[in-house]
Amino acid sequence: MRIFETHAHLDFPQFQKDREAIIKKCLGQGIEYIINVGVDRKTCLESIKLAEKFKTVYASVGFHPHDAKDFDADFIREQAQHPKVVAIGEIGLDYFRNLSPKQSQKRAFEEQIKIALDLNLPIIVHDRDAHQDCFDILADHEAKKVVFHCYSGDEVFALKVLEKNWFLSFTGIITYKNSHLENTVRIVPEEKFFIETDSPYLPPHPQRGKRNTPLNLPYIIEKISEIKMITPKKVAELSFRNACEFFNIKE
Ligand SMILES: [Zn+2]
Repeated sequence: MRIFETHAHLDFPQFQKDREAIIKKCLGQGIEYIINVGVDRKTCLESIKLAEKFKTVYASVGFHPHDAKDFDADFIREQAQHPKVVAIGEIGLDYFRNLSPKQSQKRAFEEQIKIALDLNLPIIVHDRDAHQDCFDILADHEAKKVVFHCYSGDEVFALKVLEKNWFLSFTGIITYKNSHLENTVRIVPEEKFFIETDSPYLPPHPQRGKRNTPLNLPYIIEKISEIKMITPKKVAELSFRNACEFFNIKE
């Protein structure tokens, strides 16, 4: 079974002691690719460093809405041209925590969408309690290659996203008892989704309360398999193929 981890933060301090061991172990468990996602200046540079060091790791660069007030367009444009950077993200809007003012979140989001379009890179969207604004801004800019990472909307919003030909990505949240995502997982077409852990956050059930790692992807695969009534192998394969296509990585 070939597995693609499309969203992890392995540069974070939670992995200080065993980062390299985990990356190596991933390969042993069939996790052939990992996208390490930047959220600010430091983590973008760290993501690129990891990608330079490990053949299986790719990087994504962007200023998270929490860090929108520090957004630096020239920095992102420059880092995005590194050969192992495969996407712009995670970028978007977070009205749940509002750690940056709404206006600066929107401005940073728009500027980064423009960079992605200029450089022909896909966009990894962070949307927390900001579904409609995220959607409208992306649609206004005519963004084509978009994934709603850690999808958290309902089925109605999912259909709007899918109508735009954008993608949905699922984390361990789908394994939680109070998850409202079952119908969305059921209706998403086989060619429009992939999987991620968002490590070190969001450990799937029954690993809740622990640090998350990409090695927990099988729990997410298992849950999708159960909901969509297809084999785990098929789930992993679909997600792998869709992610390769989305991030433009040759299999
Ligand atoms: Zn993330």
